[in-house]
Amino acid sequence: MRSLRIRRVRKGMSLKHAQGSKAAMRVGVPRALMFYRYYPFLKMLLEGFGCEVVASPPTNLRIMGMGTDLCVDDICVAVKALFGHVRHLEGEVDAVLVPRLVSVEKKDYDTFTCPKLIAAPDMVRFSFPHLPPPLEFVVDVKKAPFWWGCLRLGRRLGVSLRGIARSYAAATREQRRFEDLQREGLLPEDALKRMENGNDGPPPAYASAERDVTVAVVGHPYLLGDPLVSKRLIHWLDSSGARVLASTMLSRRDLEREARKLPDLSWSYEWELLAAASHFMEADGVDGVIYLTSFGCGPDSLVTEMVRREVPNPHGRALLDLVLDEHSAESGVRTRAEAFVDLLRHRKRARSREVEKR
Ligand code: SF4
Repeated sequence: MRSLRIRRVRKGMSLKHAQGSKAAMRVGVPRALMFYRYYPFLKMLLEGFGCEVVASPPTNLRIMGMGTDLCVDDICVAVKALFGHVRHLEGEVDAVLVPRLVSVEKKDYDTFTCPKLIAAPDMVRFSFPHLPPPLEFVVDVKKAPFWWGCLRLGRRLGVSLRGIARSYAAATREQRRFEDLQREGLLPEDALKRMENGNDGPPPAYASAERDVTVAVVGHPYLLGDPLVSKRLIHWLDSSGARVLASTMLSRRDLEREARKLPDLSWSYEWELLAAASHFMEADGVDGVIYLTSFGCGPDSLVTEMVRREVPNPHGRALLDLVLDEHSAESGVRTRAEAFVDLLRHRKRARSREVEKR
């Protein structure tokens, strides 16, 4: 990794690099929200810029507790996790990087992400006034191409244009690998682990097509991918013997094909969830769908209703809504996951008996 002298990052910012140190700047990336979409990209990009990248550890009770203490009660659990991770990184790094996702796709109508994803760096800045302002990675493709955010970040860190271009190309390759692993049936956490360990390894048990029941889980990557937030939902489905598919495994093309049947939606990530739910309601081999949402999430509360009312369900598939918050008990999620798998198994057997009778 190339070590780079980082010039003054921002006027008045007291980073050791701003004082001329040759040590690489330590940039913390909180393991929350957009971590589960862009971490391989951001890590490669920042390393190319000469930074040392420190990801916070998987969410644990201490991190979630700190996030809950720092936030107002009725904000979603995903933002509470973000705050807990920033607090964990405090004192360990020179700056934290918090992506600001404003618009992530171009359509012939207005699209944007959730207001909390747009304002995430501001929320961190105002809640941690003693920290240097977070580094921002801005994505607003309605106004500027995706690479523009990388250029802005690189220039802020004093990287040459050539260095930025090289790092961007490497980061794009890394991101493609991450997405390919998910298309092959890995959940975001497992895809990240596989990239870190650098081995191919056998596919995880939950991906086995030999299992008698298949459950599709639809939810934001930061809910699905965080075992503490999801109360190990995937683990409980796996240990009940179900094959698990997830919305994160679908390609953009799969989603676009589905979305043609559905109403337009300006929230890009909710549009993805709606299309994913529609895909799994019709896809061969799926027995039931779990729709995972976060308590206090405005967009999800609307889209949950749309999944029930607008998504065609020609096979009469079972749909379970699971609402998560920091108080959700693992035993509650486990019971519901196991009962859901039992129900699907029972329905499947009853259907095969009916077919045999005929
Ligand atoms: S979409 Fe919902 S869960 Fe995600 S950050 Fe926004 S409010 Fe929170």
